[in-house]
Amino acid sequence: MWPSRNRTETVTCLACGDQVPRSMAREYDKYGDRWDREDKAFEHLCKSCHGDLCHHPRDELEELLVELDAGETGQDAFLYGYLSTVEERYGTLEER
Ligand SMILES: [Zn+2]
Repeated sequence: MWPSRNRTETVTCLACGDQVPRSMAREYDKYGDRWDREDKAFEHLCKSCHGDLCHHPRDELEELLVELDAGETGQDAFLYGYLSTVEERYGTLEER
């Protein structure tokens, strides 16, 4: 019936950090390309975080992060690039 405990592979949800059985997790690829599986390790989301994501479109943010080499550049350089790009595209972040 149920797979024995030690055979259940678990993964860590990248959003909330929960351990979830691999079979219950959703694959998440930050490049949005789930079909090219070569030389890649997918990140995982638990069901409820994945559900949350679907209610909040994040296409532009993902594109922006990829474009700015998030995780590849130093934090200061990234934050500087991020803020100036966001300001350029969406205007300043001042409260109205
Ligand atoms: Zn989660």
